[in-house]
Amino acid sequence: MTSAQAAPAAGGTHAYPLQRHFIDGAFRESQSRRTFVSLDPATNEPLAAAAEGDAFDVDLAVGAARRAFDTTDWPRMKATDRAAVLRRVGALIRERADEFIEREVRDIGMPVAQMRGLAARAATNFEYYAGVVTELHGRSFQVGEEFLNYTIRKPVGVAGMIMPWNAPLMLSTWRIAPALAAGNTVVLKPAEWSPLTATLLAEVLADAGVPAGVFNVVHGFGETAGAALSSHAGVDLICFTGETSTGSTIIAAGAPTLKRSSVELGGKSPVLVFEDADPELAVDAALAQIFTMNGQRCTAGSRLLVHNSRYEAVVSAIAERAKRIRVGDPGDPKTELGPLIRAEHHERVVQYIDSARRQGARVLAGGRRPDGLDRGNYLEATVLADADEHMDVFREEIFGPVLVATPFADEAEAIRLANATEYGLAAYVWTNDLTRAHRVAHALDTGMCWINSQNVRDLRTPFGGVKNSGIGREGGDYAFDFYCETEIVHVALGTHAIPKLGLGDDDQETSA
Ligand code: NAD
Repeated sequence: MTSAQAAPAAGGTHAYPLQRHFIDGAFRESQSRRTFVSLDPATNEPLAAAAEGDAFDVDLAVGAARRAFDTTDWPRMKATDRAAVLRRVGALIRERADEFIEREVRDIGMPVAQMRGLAARAATNFEYYAGVVTELHGRSFQVGEEFLNYTIRKPVGVAGMIMPWNAPLMLSTWRIAPALAAGNTVVLKPAEWSPLTATLLAEVLADAGVPAGVFNVVHGFGETAGAALSSHAGVDLICFTGETSTGSTIIAAGAPTLKRSSVELGGKSPVLVFEDADPELAVDAALAQIFTMNGQRCTAGSRLLVHNSRYEAVVSAIAERAKRIRVGDPGDPKTELGPLIRAEHHERVVQYIDSARRQGARVLAGGRRPDGLDRGNYLEATVLADADEHMDVFREEIFGPVLVATPFADEAEAIRLANATEYGLAAYVWTNDLTRAHRVAHALDTGMCWINSQNVRDLRTPFGGVKNSGIGREGGDYAFDFYCETEIVHVALGTHAIPKLGLGDDDQETSA
């Protein structure tokens, strides 16, 4: 077993040992020996030290990934053989699920009951892509009796992955699995606020038989390690998930070396409740859609748009339930809402609530630190009613447990309000009018729409956003459009005409 556990913590006693980089099949500290400390959001006490990577460590990792791409069997082996390794990764994640769950609950404050589902999904990500890659096929094009042309899919090369802190295990495996399945090699830079599961994942991949250099992890800050990875000439693909402004910086950093990039960014997704919707289901889903994952969810239904005739009833039903949401220790199986990731993020979310209050929104639930939870970054489940479309809370991503409600008069206004942000990731439409459901879904500026449903993923379908929510689609076999090159091979069958040049006056025939 490749041990992630062996090294002692640097600079103090922490709950976990030093989280080291994983480069070329070995755990190692930074060349600079520098480390940074990750905090427990439930207490804001130090949880673990992690190696602080910089351009030097990134260069080592990219070099290892490049060598693995050029010299190991990984990109060239049969898809079924790579799939077998990925299935072992899935099985090992399930076997060690408790360790993954414990680490991520402490690292990011995700309630343990929700983290169980996310850990299972991480395993499924590998198992699912093990299946998809074995079904991957090219197209053939007959040209009469002259040609048979066909496409082949090839891995692109070294994939750099820069990931956020809000669901690190689930989100990174959702990218690592198809990248590896396609035969690429990977350098992962986890978010500096959530280093813990990436180290364990490196151990599991190695134990499952992923060859040295094929999967690498470099911990560190965005401005140093992330910037070095996104601009490195040896990286062919950049897969980024995070804030919109960071995504734009990363695309610019990759432009001089023409990196292909897939960027999944922020959201401000609307939940539209029409007068004929099933109110009970809509209320349940609206609550789940904003208050799970501590509200730190890219596809959170953070804006509730309700028809005038149902507005008061729906909004007050949601507020009453929000008041009863159990906020507390993320390690307690009964907890529904854990702490926010960092004190400064908590402060930012509270400022949004205060600004909405000053601008005339009604705080129907929450808005404060819960009684008895003096330490950690806890916030009550918050419902703000009567948000005006010009308020910051209506337009900007808060990324916390804050639902913003606004009434609408008719379908046209509902669509206009839904589209009145710079984002376009997800949308949720509640109506029992069949034709309206589809009409509205088509009119929304969104990459993904759910009708009469909360966010239930079908892994075969495309995932991604429009406008400031991202560029590109992953998920299902769409991921292989990003993680593979498509090469066309033209095969002449011996009958096509070839222009004959240089025959002087004997033959003037030319053709294109
Ligand atoms: P962030 O942009 O601050 O950081 C994401 C990653 O980028 C981190 O690893 C960070 O170290 C790195 N980074 C920061 N600056 C960088 C730079 N200059 N160069 C290279 N790398 C850099 O985002 P976050 O706060 O970690 O995550 C929250 C955001 O992620 C929210 O906006 C959320 O909506 C979004 N998100 C989107 C999706 C999606 O699929 N659309 C999923 C989850 C989260």
